[in-house]
Amino acid sequence: MLIGAHVSAAGGANKAIARAEEIGAECFQIFASSPRMWSAKPVADEIVEKYTAEMKRTMMGPTVLHGKYLVALGSADPELLAKSETALRADIAAANRLSALGVIFHPASHRGQGFEAIIDQFAASVRKVLDSEPGDSLLMLETSAGAGDHIGSSFAELGTLIKAIGNDRVAVCLDTQHVFAAGYNIAVTDTLNVAIDEFDKEIGIGLLKAVHANDSRRELGSSVDRHENIGDGLIGTAGFTTIMSHEAFKRVPFYLEVPGTGKSGPDKPNLDRLKAIRSQVGAG
Ligand SMILES: [Zn+2]
Ligand SMILES: [Zn+2]
Repeated sequence: MLIGAHVSAAGGANKAIARAEEIGAECFQIFASSPRMWSAKPVADEIVEKYTAEMKRTMMGPTVLHGKYLVALGSADPELLAKSETALRADIAAANRLSALGVIFHPASHRGQGFEAIIDQFAASVRKVLDSEPGDSLLMLETSAGAGDHIGSSFAELGTLIKAIGNDRVAVCLDTQHVFAAGYNIAVTDTLNVAIDEFDKEIGIGLLKAVHANDSRRELGSSVDRHENIGDGLIGTAGFTTIMSHEAFKRVPFYLEVPGTGKSGPDKPNLDRLKAIRSQVGAG
């Protein structure tokens, strides 16, 4: 179980490596491009070379890229759908260039159409994106907290989408805060076991490829996406001990997306908290 964090890639993906090293991350997540703007430029050869050399030197674990927040494959607006496909395609291309594990993106909203109505469109879009960018990098659907019309707050919905897509480059990133907000009490052994069984039945536990490790500022089932520092939220240190003790998480990289003790994003204290729990449960 590797423990990493989201870090800034300002100045190029290669610059993220030193930032990850500085806080003690063993792997990291970056934005492939600005998450709130449509523009994206391909990763330059020079960046790929520097990045590859630095990754080898530091022996950093698998990198994941986070997709744009604007992506909405459940939208009925053809222009927004086309822009979303283009953006995801650029992110997958970047992931392939950097030999990243994959791109994590939010299934986003069905925008009032209902989940059933968007399944075919969503699946066709994902297939199109993957077919246009062959390679090894995965496209990972992230579990959502379930606010409003958001897709993917139940493992059944994600499983339905993945079956409809029918491509073996599709996987799942489980966000501990989002699933807690969506009503899965992963902080307690009995209900964690039920949740993992449900994940396995609906999706297949082998498709769990990444974890966003975040404590929760909001209560179980709140549907609100509000991350908290590890140990300071309602999942708590005991909850993370439960999670990290479970077999399902033992070979999956963890990426922090917490506010940080100094409110400047994932930091060393949060990584140290997770690492302490990992050694306690013997999952190192
Ligand atoms: Zn996310
Ligand atoms: Zn979140």
